[in-house]
Amino acid sequence: MTSFPPQTQAAIEFAADLFRQSKHAVVLSGAGLSTPSGIPDFRSTGSGLWSSDEPMEVASLHTFRTSPEKFFQWFRPLAGQIFNAKPNPAHFALTELQKAGHMDFVITQNIDSLHQKAGSEHVIETHGTMQTLTCTQCYHQVQAEAYLVPFVETGEIPHCPKCAQILKPDVIFFGEQLPQTAWFKAQREARQCELMLVVGSSLEVLPVAGLPMQALDRGAHLIIINNSPTYLNLRADVAILEDVALVVPAIIERVLNG
Ligand SMILES: [Zn+2]
Repeated sequence: MTSFPPQTQAAIEFAADLFRQSKHAVVLSGAGLSTPSGIPDFRSTGSGLWSSDEPMEVASLHTFRTSPEKFFQWFRPLAGQIFNAKPNPAHFALTELQKAGHMDFVITQNIDSLHQKAGSEHVIETHGTMQTLTCTQCYHQVQAEAYLVPFVETGEIPHCPKCAQILKPDVIFFGEQLPQTAWFKAQREARQCELMLVVGSSLEVLPVAGLPMQALDRGAHLIIINNSPTYLNLRADVAILEDVALVVPAIIERVLNG
């Protein structure tokens, strides 16, 4: 087991107590949960592989409509990484927490399906998913694997099997509305939960970043685990600035085994 400084250890124990006392807990996860699985935080400017591109521009609806090849060129290495990524210990620990009845829903900003790959259920994907693609012309929806795997290999842009128009991954682009059903569910969970655990999100991307505030306003407890501070760290019951892949399993171990 990892040993932490005394202050972090105390915070881990307090967080575990909050989970044991809570009847309705939800998780809100962001890009920082997937970085230990090798997926770069492509929304942060200047990070990793895409520092030369500007994600806000290239992953926008405008770019997709006017020059889809520019989007797909940017998207190709990212799609490859996401398809090959495996859940890390934090994903698996969250699944155990849920199976033990200590956590109900996972609200995620991630599009990589790593929660589901780790066996979690009730995952609310606020920024969409890479698992499906939809035709920009006739709205026919297809499973991504048959289209995106060949695209990653050859670079050939995927086209609709019905009308031959370009297929768009079902992820939220910059300048696009969140999927309505997912967003309503996420808000409902944020307002009804007794405890929210924010993991790997810097709480910078609106409107999802406002969900913990909604939970706090209704009297919920808040735990934040992220490697950099967020705007709500001072209001959280527990805030731990640490590697999520180490701290999350340590908390959950304590919840489950006392
Ligand atoms: Zn079509």
